[in-house]
Order: sequence, then structure tokens, then C-alpha cells
Amino acid sequence: MRTERPLTTPLSAVRNLGILAHVDAGKTTVTERFLYLTGTTHKRGEVHDGTTVTDFDPQERDRGITIFAAAVTCAWDGHRINLIDTPGHVDFADEVERSLRVLDGAIAVFDAVAGVEPQSESVWRQADRYGVPRIAFVNKLDRAGADLDTAVASIRERLHPAPLVVQLPIGTEDGFTGVVDLLRLRALVWTDGSDTADEVPVPESLLEEARRRRRLLEEAVAELHAGALEEFYDESALSAETLSSALRDLTRTGDGVVVLCGSAYRNRGIEPLLDAVVAYLPSPSDVPAVRGTYDGGEQERAADPQLPFSALAFKVSATATGRLTYLRIYSGTIEKGDTVWDPGVRRTERIGRILRVQADRHERLDRAVAGDIVAVVGLKSARAGSTLCAPDAPLVLEPPTVADPVVSVA
Ligand code: GDP
Repeated sequence: MRTERPLTTPLSAVRNLGILAHVDAGKTTVTERFLYLTGTTHKRGEVHDGTTVTDFDPQERDRGITIFAAAVTCAWDGHRINLIDTPGHVDFADEVERSLRVLDGAIAVFDAVAGVEPQSESVWRQADRYGVPRIAFVNKLDRAGADLDTAVASIRERLHPAPLVVQLPIGTEDGFTGVVDLLRLRALVWTDGSDTADEVPVPESLLEEARRRRRLLEEAVAELHAGALEEFYDESALSAETLSSALRDLTRTGDGVVVLCGSAYRNRGIEPLLDAVVAYLPSPSDVPAVRGTYDGGEQERAADPQLPFSALAFKVSATATGRLTYLRIYSGTIEKGDTVWDPGVRRTERIGRILRVQADRHERLDRAVAGDIVAVVGLKSARAGSTLCAPDAPLVLEPPTVADPVVSVA
């Protein structure tokens, strides 16, 4: 019986995440730092010397831009983060759309000097269309001319979300050393050469400004969130816990966008970003059931391992391991050797090896369940965009939408 075996990671602790950005904003560097900090890679790759782990296709290295989406898995704070690479280059809009279909949430990365750039705008609009909950990361705060407030103003004016800035940078440009966490009024600083932040009291010189900004954040949250407003009236201040849970709700309904900042290149601001992914972005069980049709009939499939299998193939790549088909599993369970149905070509396919891809290596799995993103070896006809489903419960998946606001679970 498949369902008797416990899952290693509960569905609520899975994050299917994409990083959206204009080319050069720092998506590859952020990805690299994620993999490094989560222990997935042990060597810090640098974009300029072609050693980054996600850019493993030689053509991609040559061109220096992320052409092909790849899914990479890492672990943070008891959560499994499946990082789906989304091309930032405008020539690959189809591939961006396909990856947006399989995400549950995203980080939009902006350059602190350039602010919103044309491709960040187009990919933001696409993410709006698919209702992808987002948090924003203003990167490159170490650059000359970088300014968080200007970047946030550009996000507000060009993209029109309600930005909810949860950090105050410590130092500017070359002297950017850390951030004040406005929820907890504590400072995180990174010293050169250290991988992790030191938690210190908020510097005296920033205390008043940090309090002022926390107040602004509280007011913005109270204005957008009924529960927070109530506490705001009663207490005339919001606790870190209330703020955090209201920010999670606002992220998931798309009514607000949490903004963090840092310098991926200098490895500053990355741990709080991972914490924010876990705290604010939804799990597969928080998003609406995927919809599909078959023979004119509509169906919904919730993220439940016990329902009939359904998955969307979102990328196929030829590797030394064989033909890898990346799948987002929406419902049910598959095991090696299972037969699945591809309704597009009306053929059955046999599931070969099931792999979890960790950038430069593959972990073999016995089975994979609803909510997960895996690569399968042995599929012959499935292409990017194909649905795969249980032969006795066929359907063709439609693009998932989050048209209905998602109410967060406590
Ligand atoms: P992508 O095209 O969005 O994947 O961007 P990359 O991660 O390839 O970064 C583009 C360039 O910006 C590279 O030369 C990086 O080294 C550089 N870069 C990335 N993050 C930072 C940062 O925080 N500060 C500075 N100064 N440069 C950065």
C-alpha cells in the first residue's frame, strides 16, 4: 500500500518557488547563494567564471544568461524548497509562462540601482496573470548609487503592488553591512568572509528610523488586513507574530508584496530571504486545486497523494542520465514502473527512475507525491506542456490560476 509510508516532508513544508527577474538583476547569484547556504553545494560558484551550479548547460554558460529552466531542490528550516528556474530573457516568454504554471510562489529580484526594468515588468505581469504570490528582493545594495527607497518607489509606481518593506538597510553602497529586521527590531550583520549573519542590537543611530519604519509597516498592514486592524485599534501596535501572519495572508491573496533587500554577491540578506520564503509563500496545500477537463467534463484535483495521479510536464532535457522530464505533480502518487496516460498523444508511458534534482546531482526516489517537483527518466512522448495522468482517471490540465483569493491556514 503506497499510502502507508510516511512522507519525509509534509506537504505544508514544501515550497515550489521561482525567481523572476530582469536579466542581470542577480537571479543566478541568488540561486547560487540559496544552494550554498542550504548546504546543497559546498563550493560557492561565481557567475563570472562559469561555475554556477544552476547554469549547467554548456550553451547557457556560453551565453551567460539562463536559457533553460531547471528545477533544483534544497532544504531550509525543515522545509523543502523546489527552485524552478525561470528564464529572465524576453526571448523565452513561453518558457517563463510554462514555469509560472508550476510555481506556487516567487521571488521577484530587482537591481537596487536600476529599480524596475522592462523584463521585470513583463514577467511581473505574467505572474499577475497566473496569480503567483510574490515577495520582492531588492538586490545589489552594495552598488554605487543603490538605494532601497528609490527602488521601492519604482516598484510601487511601475508595478502597483502595496509594497510592505520589512527591513531597513544598515550602511550604504560599499558600507552596506546588514539589515534591521523591522518585525523583531533586531539587526543582522554580515562580516566579510562570514557566511552567516550575526544577530546584534539595532545600532543606536538607526533606532529611531527603525521604529518609524516599523510604524509605517504596521499602518500599511492594518490598512490592508482586517485582523491586524483590530489588534492595531486595541493595542495601537502590532506584535511581530501578528505582523508576520498578516504578511503571510497579504502575500497569498496578492494584496501586498513583502520587500526585502540585500546583496547576493556579498552573501548579505540571503538567510532572511529564505526565512521569508518559508514564512510568507504558500505550500502546494495552500493553493487552489488544479483544474482539468476530459471529454468536455471539468474536474478539480486537490494536492492529495490519495487522489488519482495528475502531473504537468514543464521541461524536457537531454542529459547524460537520459531524457529527463520535469514534472509538477498536482495529485496522486507515482512509483517507478507505474503506467501513466498522456492524453495529448493518447498513449501510455512507463515511469522509469524518479529523481530529485539537486543541481549537479540526482537523488533517486522510490515514489513522488502530489505537490512535488521531480524529474522522471524513461518517458518517450511527453513534452513540455503535456499532462500525465492515471490511465483510469484521465484529464487534461489547464493552467492553474489563483483567481480566488487563498485564505491562509493558521
Ligand atoms: P541574472 O542574469 O539575473 O541571473 O544575474 P546574475 O546572477 O548572473 O548577476 C548578473 C551580474 O551581477 C553578475 O556579474 C553578478 O556577479 C552581479 N551581481 C549579482 N548580485 C550582485 C550584488 O548583490 N551586487 C553586485 N555589485 N553585483 C551583483
